[in-house]
Parts: sequence; C-alpha cells; structure tokens
Amino acid sequence: MPGRPLPCSPDAVAKHLRDLGHLHHFDFDLYRCEECGKAWVWAWSEYGSDWEEVTEEDAAKMETIPEPELRPFMKVWGQDF
Ligand SMILES: [Zn+2]
Repeated sequence: MPGRPLPCSPDAVAKHLRDLGHLHHFDFDLYRCEECGKAWVWAWSEYGSDWEEVTEEDAAKMETIPEPELRPFMKVWGQDF
C-alpha cells in the first residue's frame, strides 16, 4: 500500500490492479480507488513518490494490455515525468 492517501478519497482503500514495471527511474503500479472507482498510478522512486493522474482509457489499457506491449506503452506514458 502506497504511503500517501488517494487524492480523490483520502480515507479510501486503494486496490492494486497491476505492476506496471520500472521505467524512467520510477516503479509504476496501477491502483483503483475502492470508494469512487477512479484509477491512479502510484509512481515510486528513491527521490520521491506520488499518485499520478491517469485517464480511464489509459488505465483500461494498462490493466489489459499483454505483457510484451506493456513496457513500450508505459515508456510513452511515462516520458513526461
Ligand atoms: Zn476515490
């Protein structure tokens, strides 16, 4: 469980959906808020960690994309960090 409350619902439990791998010095994990249903990406790095906004469209891709396509997808998604 990430060390910060969800920005959408601070008291809610974040349900872990998928390990999105390590890219651009971050470990990315996909979560969903059990209170309002919003998807979030937890971006962990040794320099700092936080919740990142993710669109429902991207979250759906992150959840369902086959493993070989996940890394290239995350590389593009995470390039602006
Ligand atoms: Zn929420």
